[in-house]
Amino acid sequence: MLRTTQTVTEEASAAPSRLVLAFALMALMLTLVLPVRCLALAEGYDSQARVREIFDGERLRLTAQYCKIHYGLDSSELREPQMIVLHYTAFHTFEESYRFFLPDLLDTQSRKDISSGGAVNVSAHYLVDRDGTVFQLASENVICRHTIGFNYTAIGIENVGSGSADLTQAQVESDAALVSRIKKRHPSIEYLIGHQEYQDAWRPHFKLYRERDSSYHFTPKHDPGLLFLKRVRTLLKDGYGLAFKD
Ligand SMILES: [Zn+2]
Repeated sequence: MLRTTQTVTEEASAAPSRLVLAFALMALMLTLVLPVRCLALAEGYDSQARVREIFDGERLRLTAQYCKIHYGLDSSELREPQMIVLHYTAFHTFEESYRFFLPDLLDTQSRKDISSGGAVNVSAHYLVDRDGTVFQLASENVICRHTIGFNYTAIGIENVGSGSADLTQAQVESDAALVSRIKKRHPSIEYLIGHQEYQDAWRPHFKLYRERDSSYHFTPKHDPGLLFLKRVRTLLKDGYGLAFKD
């Protein structure tokens, strides 16, 4: 009887200790595994941006087609980007701009100038609203169609607005902060240009130009304009200590 009581007591005291051990193990696993999982989910995304994803499987397939024709690449993956290109959308509101980028297919009526270049719609990785709110439309790990000859290596930032003077101080500040965060994630980036500078063969970035379709030509661009570019570049230099090669 005594022996039985002792056995029961031992078992009773052993059970909670096994439970505690199991909880401790679970806690340890969560501590080790969760951050890795979170990091994996966040890869390619900016922690301060609001995500409004426009890429789906079909868009990735169309992008891969575009990349094969223009760059000889077999995927739509953006690897080790080397430049950032700033733009404005020529629309007055975020919703108009977003609706323009959202469809997978290019609007061949309004974009007759580039329709021979492929079916995938134009887009950019980021869209900065007039109040400076940063929206992320695509992972930094995919190629977006925004700058002829450079998409394979460029991250695109669009700003809601229709002219250099029309863009806001909040957009200047958000663009500069975003550029500095992107540069931290991708030390491979050496060039920052405005879309209107992309075909300037004398600028340092032009050595990155790549186009396999000889019938596909540059289209004239005025975005985001010298005034806006100057303000962003000045803030990057003075506020973040960042100067790019262009
Ligand atoms: Zn542009």
